[in-house]
Parts: sequence; structure tokens; C-alpha cells
Amino acid sequence: MDLSRRDILKGSLTAGAATVGMAAAGETMFAKAAEAAGPAPQYEIFACQYGGPITRKQAIVLWNNGWDVDGQLSYFVWAVRDKAGNTVVIDTGCNPVEGANRKVAGYTDPVDVLSRIGAGADTVRKVVISHMHWDHSGNIESYLKAFPKAKFYVQKRELEFCSGPLAARKPIGVLFDHKANKVVAGLQGTGRMAVVDGDHRLAPGLDLFLAPGHTLGLQVLRVNTAKGPAIVGSDLAHVFQGYKDDTGSVFIMDMPGWLKSFDKIKPMVAPDMIFPGHDIQMHDGFPEVAKWVTKLV
Ligand SMILES: [Zn+2]
Repeated sequence: MDLSRRDILKGSLTAGAATVGMAAAGETMFAKAAEAAGPAPQYEIFACQYGGPITRKQAIVLWNNGWDVDGQLSYFVWAVRDKAGNTVVIDTGCNPVEGANRKVAGYTDPVDVLSRIGAGADTVRKVVISHMHWDHSGNIESYLKAFPKAKFYVQKRELEFCSGPLAARKPIGVLFDHKANKVVAGLQGTGRMAVVDGDHRLAPGLDLFLAPGHTLGLQVLRVNTAKGPAIVGSDLAHVFQGYKDDTGSVFIMDMPGWLKSFDKIKPMVAPDMIFPGHDIQMHDGFPEVAKWVTKLV
């Protein structure tokens, strides 16, 4: 596929190499990252539940541990808001048709959930697509209409894989919304998409990090908050327990890549400041500030 060069943001996180290197230094990273963030603005992070809870075997989210144990999962998008109300949204969620097809209980268009905290056409200028699975990018058409001033940030290798023939193959084809993927791919060159190649500074205090494994081009967002740096990790791990146990879900396309991503991302923040993709605790364990919206930090 043809990725227009001018649309690709490459190496624009100038502090990127140093930042990643610091991650390897382990625990001291928390203090250093907070210090490095310095006068960077602080943001609040909200989890917006758009579906669930649904019941699944625990083994699905904890690498084959607990095929005889039922657990609950929910579906989320996330909002990162500065003091002026400007909001970066992470992920689109799935569209209503897919939600119905895949029996997502309690489905509400994520656009509606986001509106409950004032995230709308005038406040959302950036949308991060963490990866292109059906439940994370499938609602792209609704977002394009609801957030007409927003630019969508996706990793180059995610886009390339999802635009190629392998993404449609069994057994992984079912994990993608192929219609939505075509819409995402079609945004190239329209001014509404930024194709990111690796780590990238989205704004002061907001850094994207490439973290492959679950998919080939998953990215996470590090956010400067009043409590220090936090990571919106999407499906790098599905539940908090995954980060505690160094355990991923059964959906890992690239295991060596996933192991390296865990080593890269986890040391960047305190253990309670990394947020997973589908844990019901993001709703049940935090203060609800609007219907189905909780404040994580
Ligand atoms: Zn997911």
C-alpha cells in the first residue's frame, strides 16, 4: 500500500530515545518521567464504558489460566482532558451493527457516552486509534461525523497490516471490522489522519508509544496527570491482573513483540497508573462522574 510520506510522523518525539532508555532503568523512571514532564500540562483521564458487562472465561484474558472460571468484561473508550476542556479521545469503540452482531450487552454509541462529559465537535481535535480490532476502531464513521475537526492517529504498521490480505485470514480475520478498516485506510491524504511511525509526542504531556504484540501496531498513550504519569494501555493487557501477573490475553499476534512491549511500557509508570482495555474495575472501582463515565485519574 502507498503511505504518503508527508502524512507519516516519524521520530518526531525528540526525547523519544532518552525516554525509552529511561524506562529500561526501572523504578527510578517514575520520578524521572514526572520531572521530565516538568511544566507540561496535567490532564484528567476518563473511562467511558460503551458496552458490557459480558461474561467470558477468565482464561481468555489471562493467558489460558482459568478455563473453568467465569469473569466479566466491559468495552471502553477513554477521554483525556486538559483544564480548558480540550479532549483527546482514545479509540472509537465498535459500531451499533457489530455491537448487535457480537451481542455486546448494554451497547451505547461511544459518541453519546463521551458527550456526557462535554466531549464533542468543538472540544475533540485528536483521536488516537490504539489498534484496529473491531471493538476499538469499528465506530470510525460515527466519529468522523461527530468530531469534524478531529485528526485520527494510527500507527503505520497497524495500517499496513490491516490494509493487506493477511488481516482477512482465519483465525484472526474475525477480530477486525473490515468495512471500518477500509474507511480508516481511506483517510490517508485527506488531512484527517496522521500516520505515526513509532513513538511520537502528541502534545506536551501526551506521548504515544508503539507497543506491538496484541496486534502488530498497537500504541499506548502516556499522560501527565496530577498524580504523575499514567498509561492508557488499551489491550496491551485486557485486565489489571494481567499487569500484576505479567500475563496477556490469549489474543497475542506477536509474543516476542508483546514481551518487549511489556518491558518497555510497564516501568514508565507506577503499578496503579497503567490502565487495561476491558477490566470492569475501570467502571466499578472509580468514581462515576456521568452515566457510564468514571474518572480514573
Ligand atoms: Zn479490545
